[in-house]
This record gives sequence, C-alpha cells and structure tokens, in this order.
Amino acid sequence: MTSTSYIELSQQALDKNISFIRQVIGLDPRLTAVIKANAYGHGIEQFVTMAEQTHINHFTVFSAEEAQRVLKSSRMNSDALVMGFMTNEEVEWAVHNQVEFYVFEQDRLRQAVKAAQKWSKKALIHLEIETGMNRTGFRREEFLEIAPYIREHLKELFVKGLCTHYAGAESIINHKRVEAQVERFSEMIVLAEREKIPPEVCHSACSAAALAFPNTVMDLVRSGILCYGYWPSQQTQEHYYSQHPELRDVSLLKPVLQWKSWVMSTKEVKAGDHIGYGESYMADQDMVIASVPVGYGYGYPRDLSNKGEMLIHGKLAPVVGRVGMNATMVDVTHLYNVKKGDEVVIIGEQGDKAIWAAAFPEWENPLNYEVLSRLPESTPRLAVE
Ligand SMILES: *Cc1c(COP(=O)(O)O)cnc(C)c1O
Repeated sequence: MTSTSYIELSQQALDKNISFIRQVIGLDPRLTAVIKANAYGHGIEQFVTMAEQTHINHFTVFSAEEAQRVLKSSRMNSDALVMGFMTNEEVEWAVHNQVEFYVFEQDRLRQAVKAAQKWSKKALIHLEIETGMNRTGFRREEFLEIAPYIREHLKELFVKGLCTHYAGAESIINHKRVEAQVERFSEMIVLAEREKIPPEVCHSACSAAALAFPNTVMDLVRSGILCYGYWPSQQTQEHYYSQHPELRDVSLLKPVLQWKSWVMSTKEVKAGDHIGYGESYMADQDMVIASVPVGYGYGYPRDLSNKGEMLIHGKLAPVVGRVGMNATMVDVTHLYNVKKGDEVVIIGEQGDKAIWAAAFPEWENPLNYEVLSRLPESTPRLAVE
C-alpha cells in the first residue's frame, strides 16, 4: 500500500554537514552523532547507515531501545552511548553488549558493577556531572561520595567519559550561565584526576556549544542538529558568520531530510465560503484549493493552520483553514492546472523554492528540533544520493 507521504534523506547533504562540523571542531576530537528521537525524525536505521558512509562510528541515543537499533543497523561495529533512560535490566544488557552509558545516580552505578560481575565484562560508563543544567548528573559532593566506590571497582568499571550538558548554549541570554558551567566542569575534570579516576575522554559540547564556545570542544563532540543540516538557532548562525565574515556567502549546511506528498484532490470554492473546520478561513474570492493527505496526525504542526506553506509546481501554496488530523488544504488559485497526484513538498525543495523546518513560523525557539522529531516512525524513509 502507498503511504500518504514519504521522507527522502540526502547523502550529499549529510556529507556536507559532517565536513562543516569537522571544520568547526578540527580533526582531533571524536564526533558522535546524536540520534535520539529516531535520529531527529530521520530514522535511526537509515541514518546510521548513511552516517557510517561518512566514517562516523559513534552514535549517541537517549534509551537502550534506541541503542539496540544502532547495534542492529550498524555495519561497522560502531559504538553506541545511552545518555538517558535505562531500566536495571537494560543496564545488564548494555554491559553484555558493551554499550556505553551515562551514570548520573548511585543506583545505576551499583547496577553497572553488578552487571559487570555477572558477565565478567567491564561496564563502559560516562560519569555525568551536574554543572548548572539541573536535570541529571552528580554534584561535586556526590561525586566525592562515589569516588571511593568507583576506585574500589575499577575491575568492573571503565570510566570512558566525564561529561556534562549546557543549559541553552544556542541562546545569547544564557551566555553567563554557560560560562559558569564551563568553569565548574573544568574544576571537576581536575578533581577526577585528583581522585584517581581519570576518564578516557571528557565531553561537553553539543552543536551550539561547539559553534559558540570553542573551549567546550574537548575529546568528543555530541552533535545532533548540525548533522541534520540545521543551525541550532538563528543566533548561533549569526554569531558564527560574524566570527567568520569570509564565509558570508557560503552555504555551510544543507538539510538532509525532505518530506513529500501528493495532491489528493482539488476543489473550487466560492467567494464568501468557509474552508475547513470552523470559520478560521473565509474565501475572499473564488478559489481553487488542493487537499494534501498530511495533517497533525502525521507530524504536520496544527500551529501552521492558516500560516504554513507547501510547494506545488515550484510555487508556494499557503495553508488555508485548520490543519486536520489527516489532511490539510492549500490555496492553489494562483497556479495553473493543479491536478490530483501532483507532487507536494512539505519540507524541502521544488524548482528554485525551498521550505525548511527552520522556516516554519515561530521557530525562534528551535521548533526545527520539534517538527523533525515528531515525524512518525511509520512514514517511509528513503536514502538518495
Ligand atoms: C540532544 C543532546 C545533544 C545534541 O544536541 P544538538 O543541539 O542537536 O547538537 C547533546 N548532548 C545532550 C545531553 C543532548 O541531550
């Protein structure tokens, strides 16, 4: 059967984005592609395969379930790192499969030791440090409390990493808070050495931090959004270009994902009639509208009612009326002979026009992350050159 829309993933775009990240972080740090939330909607399986072609061999996810999908789809025996949720049984699974994972609470630390004893394999742990985000991670006092336990269990534990996460490095208003976090983290690195549990690698930078705070780029960089071809925010983009005026006219990123569908049907509407649910849109002239079989149930934001645009025949077609669960209407009055079956681009390029998730309204607080990660897993994804 045919799905109502499909997603195309561009290998060329991914290659370009990875080269840009390399340009930003240099050749030495290891790069891990952050592929939580189904690879920001791109599809973990498809994305791992594509990323491995650009020689990425480390993937960071949120849950054990996602890590398992990395192991299944990897053809290069890539490493997987879980930053978030795991049950105690999954800690066992991770140790058995040599999946790396964050440790940010004492219970998980003990589970790691137990699992290591059970399998006679080391648990590959990343100790997460609280530096000001106040989500997960050990505060200094807690770290000092667990340090002796870790030292006693260095047969079971391999301290792969010491890490932290910045609270909003994509936004200038958080600048001071991030600087304070950087400072606190570097103190903790010294402390870890002093406590004789030196980590193999230290890492803190996400995409925005790597761009705006070069000193956050340590041994490993956890980059998500840049891999997919988006700036973390408009501010980071402006900041980067202001630091590199010579690159003003160079496009440095290209979105990997395009989302496409087809015109399901067209209809003429008389001036004065309402279109769609409720009375949010009234035709002020005789109009032709096309219905597209994509709605909020397929990840097209309802907020784009009467605001969004799609591409048909290489031209913008504005959304009219409310976005429905399964279908959305667009105005094609200005287009010539739009027919059932014509291609509709929801995110992507058509002719010389483009609509990217970042251009959706109200994206100042990074809606691109949200729009992408909400694309349903059931929508087919197809890799192209
Ligand atoms: C999501 C996430 C990242 C990646 O963030 P991007 O802005 O997509 O680069 C890095 N680290 C942690 C802890 C995250 O949750």
